[in-house]
Amino acid sequence: MFGNAEDWEAVMLSESQKPGHDAMRQRVASVEIDGRSFIDGRRTNAQSDARFDVIGVADNTCLATLADAGAEDVGDAVASARKAFDDGRWRNLAPSQRGLILRRFADLVTAEAETLGLLDTIQMGMPAHISVPGIVAAAELIRVSAELADAHTDQIMPSAPSALYMQIRRPRGIVAAITPWNYPVHVALAKIAPAMATGNCVILKPSEIAPLACLRLADLAAEAGVPPGVFNALAGTGQSAGRLLALHHDVDCLAFVGSTGTGLQLMQYAGQSNMKALLLECGGKSPQIVMDDCGDPEGLCDALVAGFTSNSGQVCVSGSRILLADSVYDALLPLLAEKVRALSVGHPLDPGTALAPLASIQQAEKVRAYVTLGERDGDCVARGTDHSRNPAAVPAHLFAIRDPGCQLAQDEIFGPVGAVMRFGTPAEAIRLANATRYGLSATIWSSDVAATHAMVPELRAGFVMANAVARPDDPGVRYMSGEPRKMSGFGVDGGALGMLSYTCVQAVGYHLK
Ligand code: NAD
Repeated sequence: MFGNAEDWEAVMLSESQKPGHDAMRQRVASVEIDGRSFIDGRRTNAQSDARFDVIGVADNTCLATLADAGAEDVGDAVASARKAFDDGRWRNLAPSQRGLILRRFADLVTAEAETLGLLDTIQMGMPAHISVPGIVAAAELIRVSAELADAHTDQIMPSAPSALYMQIRRPRGIVAAITPWNYPVHVALAKIAPAMATGNCVILKPSEIAPLACLRLADLAAEAGVPPGVFNALAGTGQSAGRLLALHHDVDCLAFVGSTGTGLQLMQYAGQSNMKALLLECGGKSPQIVMDDCGDPEGLCDALVAGFTSNSGQVCVSGSRILLADSVYDALLPLLAEKVRALSVGHPLDPGTALAPLASIQQAEKVRAYVTLGERDGDCVARGTDHSRNPAAVPAHLFAIRDPGCQLAQDEIFGPVGAVMRFGTPAEAIRLANATRYGLSATIWSSDVAATHAMVPELRAGFVMANAVARPDDPGVRYMSGEPRKMSGFGVDGGALGMLSYTCVQAVGYHLK
C-alpha cells in the first residue's frame, strides 16, 4: 500500500494512514544491503583489509561490516574519475544531455525513496515518516541541478573587431564529496548533483556511520546512464578514505559537509598536497531571535521547539540559541518548557515518533556531557521523556542561560538541547546573535517586516529566515544560494550561484588575424 514515494508524501498528511511499527519492520527486513564501494561503473571488492562496522542505531545491531577503502581503492577511484574526465565522456556532452541523464537519475531515486529512506533510518535513527519523504525532496535537488545545467551563460567581453575576448565556465575536474550522517542522502545529493550537472566527475565518501543508502545512489546513477567513472562512491572512514582523498594530488576540489574540526583538517590537507579548491559547510549554533511583536505564542513556541529538536537536533541549521525579548520572556519561557516536557523519544520506525535516538551511542554520550555542563552553566527549565529504552536516546532539554559566553551557549551540541537567553533592544539581540564563532543561519520571529529587514544585514549568517527556521527539505530553498560565514565554512552553496562553485572561470582571448 505504501510502496512508492507518492504514497509516502500522502502519509505525511494523514496520521491514521501511516504504516505501523510491524509493517515497517517487514519492509526493513526486505531491504538488501550492499556495502561495497562503487568504482569505475560497478561495485568492487576492496583491496584494503581494514574493516569497520555499520551499527544500526534503531536497534543497536551491526547492519554490515564494510571494507575501509585504503590507498589502492582511493587511487582506483581517482584514476577512474580522471580517465572519465580527461576523455570528455561527460563534460563534453551538451548540458541538456547531462540534464536528461540526471533527470532519469532523479526518477530512480524517487522510485526507491522507501528503501533509501529506511536505510537512513535504521542506520542513523531519523524517523521513517520523515526520512522517506525526505528522499523525495532530495531527488528534487537533482532535478534542480539538471534544469540549471542548461541555464548558465558565459560572457563575451566588449572586444575590438579584430579580437574576441570571453569568460567561460569550465568544470573543476574531479570533485571529492565528503559528507556527514545527519541527512545522509540529502546532503550527498546536494553536493554531487550540482557537481555532475556542471560536467565534473565525482567521488562520494559518505559518513562511515550511514554509508549504505549513499552507496546505492551510485548504482542508480549508473542505471540512469551516468557513464563509468563519472560517479564513484567509496565506503570508508574519515581517517582512511576521507583523509586519502583530501591529500590526493589528482583531486581538484573537495566539497565537504561536516564538523568545523574536520573542515579545519581538510584545509591543512589541501595545503599539504595540491592546493585543491575547497567548499566547506561546517557547524553552526544558530540563533532564533524572538522580537516583541512575535505573534501567537502557542504556534510560535511549537515552531521554536521544532527549530532545535527536529531530526533530534542533528541539523546544521538547528536554531539552538533562543533569544527572547525582555517583553515576551516571562510569558514564553513556561510555554516553551511545557512543549519540551511533552516531547518523548520513541523508536524510529514508530509512526508517532517525533524525537528519535541520536545517530550513535558516541553522539549521545557527547550530548549527555553537554546536558551535565548545562546544569552548571544554566537552569534546566525542562526535560523531555524517553520511551525508547535505546542507549543512544537523549531527551530534549531546555536551559535558561546566565552567561551567553558559556559553553552550552557557544558550542555546537548537535542534539535536542536549547539554550534560552534574553535581550533588551534590537541592537543587543544582534550582538548576542553574532556572538559565536559560527555564522551558518539565523531566524528572526517578528511581524514587523521593516524592522526585520533592518536587522538582516547586521547578522553575520549565510542563511537568514524570518518567521521560520531553515530546513534542509524546505521546497522554498531549492533554488536559493547562500554562503556560510566565520567558522561555519565558505563557498556559495545551493541554487544557480551554488552550481558555479563547481566551475572555474577560463579567460579566453582570440586575436582574429
Ligand atoms: P564529521 O566532520 O565528523 O564527518 C563528516 C565527514 O568527514 C564524514 O564522511 C567523515 O568520515 C569525514 N572525515 C572525518 N574526519 C576526516 C578526516 N580527517 N579527513 C577526511 N575526512 C574526514 O561530521 P559528522 O559528525 O559526520 O556530521 C556532523 C557535523 O556536520 C556537524 O558539525 C554539522 O553541523 C555538520 N553539518 C553541516 C552542514 C552544513 O550545511 N553546514 C550540514 C550537515 C551537517
